[in-house]
Amino acid sequence: MITRVLCVLSMLLAAEFCLAQTDSSKSGVPAEIPVLDVNAIDKTADPCLDFYQYACGTWMKNNPIPTDKSRWGRFDQLAEHNRYILRDILDQAEVPGTHSPIETMVGNYYASCMDESTIEKKGAAPLAPQMEKIAAISNKTDLIRQIASMHRVGTSALFNFYSQPDMHDSNETLANLDQGGISLPDRDYYLKDDPKSVETRQKYVEHVQKMFELAGDKPEAAAAEAKTILAIETGLAKTSMDRTLRRDPKNRDHKMTVTQITGDAPNFDLNLYFAENGSPKFTSLNVVNPEFFKQVNEQIASTSLDEWKTYLRWKTINEYAPMLSKAFVDEDFAFNGKYMSGQQEIEPRWKRCVTSTDGDLGFALGKLYVDRTFGAEGKERTLKMVKAIESAMREDIGSLSWMSDETKKKAYEKLTAIVNNIGYPDVWRDYSSVVIKRDDYAGNVERASAFEVHRDLAKIDRPTDRKDWGMTPPTVNAYYRSSMNDINFPAGILQPPFYSNSMDDAANFGGIGVVIGHELTHGFDDQGRKYDADGNLRDWWTADDAREFEKRADCTANEYSSFVSVKDDNGEVKLNGRLTLGENTADNGGLKLAYMALMHIIGDTPVKPIDGYTPQQRFFLSFGQIWCQNVTDQQARRLAIVDPHSPGRWRVNGVVQNSAAFEKAFGCKAGQPMVAENACRVW
Ligand SMILES: [Zn+2]
Repeated sequence: MITRVLCVLSMLLAAEFCLAQTDSSKSGVPAEIPVLDVNAIDKTADPCLDFYQYACGTWMKNNPIPTDKSRWGRFDQLAEHNRYILRDILDQAEVPGTHSPIETMVGNYYASCMDESTIEKKGAAPLAPQMEKIAAISNKTDLIRQIASMHRVGTSALFNFYSQPDMHDSNETLANLDQGGISLPDRDYYLKDDPKSVETRQKYVEHVQKMFELAGDKPEAAAAEAKTILAIETGLAKTSMDRTLRRDPKNRDHKMTVTQITGDAPNFDLNLYFAENGSPKFTSLNVVNPEFFKQVNEQIASTSLDEWKTYLRWKTINEYAPMLSKAFVDEDFAFNGKYMSGQQEIEPRWKRCVTSTDGDLGFALGKLYVDRTFGAEGKERTLKMVKAIESAMREDIGSLSWMSDETKKKAYEKLTAIVNNIGYPDVWRDYSSVVIKRDDYAGNVERASAFEVHRDLAKIDRPTDRKDWGMTPPTVNAYYRSSMNDINFPAGILQPPFYSNSMDDAANFGGIGVVIGHELTHGFDDQGRKYDADGNLRDWWTADDAREFEKRADCTANEYSSFVSVKDDNGEVKLNGRLTLGENTADNGGLKLAYMALMHIIGDTPVKPIDGYTPQQRFFLSFGQIWCQNVTDQQARRLAIVDPHSPGRWRVNGVVQNSAAFEKAFGCKAGQPMVAENACRVW
């Protein structure tokens, strides 16, 4: 449940480097993944025709997607590597004995998740307390009260509520009321009419019916209930703002008083909701999508109480399914894993339990992970690279012919103010108030979720907590937060294939160097550029410079919109260049900055080729190989709708074809596919 809360948050205020997660064998921690692997290269390919195939071809051929994954890349290999380390930590912690309080806590949580026989005996019983409360609802006031109660334990329903820094005064944190309540990954799934979308809705209804049957309903009743769910969620989807529009902060910026929003949506009884959802009292808030509340206000009236009760039962079953007996887990996987993502088999229990522990108690488990894997020198050497890439950015801004000195001055100010967070938080999250029981997995998840919701809501109307982290330390990812103006690198990503002490600078700058450059660039992409050095939404651009920026961003958006993401029996899907604009801008800028920083280090001294590759070539190969991956058609299709990042092939080929340095390094000629006719460049 926690993971879902964090996903909402990170979607709103952080631009991430990737979506990670994925596998392999069952014994011990797998071997380290090389930073630059010459054996991954397909030497039969021409780097100027298809660089991705050249850098990754042999890797892709030799690394089919494991049956318990829907995507398998070198990125995912590292996430899997970390997962084995975490299992090792948890295996030791879960054996009763003398342990620190943190070890005892994560050990007991993990043991409760691994205890399938207790979980099986309980069957659907963990649903009972919520189901009884839902059954007792007798009017629409009770309905809102029940939604507040569900939100308190992290179960999503109807809309979302969370805290976030005030967009105009980042030092203060505000309550945020947002659209929500659908269960498929995006509003598109409910609204599109192509055959695949129609099929998905049909499969969804069948799945919901099966879940209701598992919860004890008769097939006929369950079938009718499933139709109700689709109807209610379609109503919510229709009035939800689409993902691409949500990228523009001005579309999410609607500060108003509690009186205003309660007046706009009287059927919600938001006063009651705010009083019962566990948040402190407040008088103003940001309503991310006011139209949603106006429209759904009507839906509350036009939908019967029984139908709403059915909806709340479904949201509860759906949320708890992974914590229940095998029948629930299997059906949840059959739809969400197999049908939606093309994953053939569910992951072994231990992998799901490690992920669950990381999701719910990630800063306790993360502390143990950091103690084992990440020393002070890791922090130091990363900081050194960050500094080198920041000064490359300073130089890059200085060199722009289209930007006025006035805007440049503000850009320097913003760059100087960026805060670097490396490895793990200064202050560790204290979970000691969370009750963890060895024989109560669902209860543990519920209590840990309640803790997290409470921690988030306690920030409302308080000075912004800039020390708080949005990702756990073992996570293979990184992020920039506009409101905080900070870049963050969890310990999990600061290792091979991104970085190794034993590798040359070229390989390391092509790996972690590009990641650092990517996060820095987010502060200046089409979203980030709208925030100032203090993390406030304030326009610091001259009108001319803003126009020049948009012209360049349009070039990138159009370029990526022409790339094909997936082509299968269900047709061809192109990338959404507007949805992925921020990430593509960061990919292009990140590569450029890391390359500049590397050239400063290498200077004019001739460096001998390694394995036949010059440092320049090794830089690009190391970069390209970060993204070697295989992905199922189903997952590629899903990601094209929901993921603001481009798929691996385009994160590589889309970037190098805009890079003059790449052209030179591999001797590519105008007219070849890896030399764009109209190369796009924002930074
Ligand atoms: Zn990013």
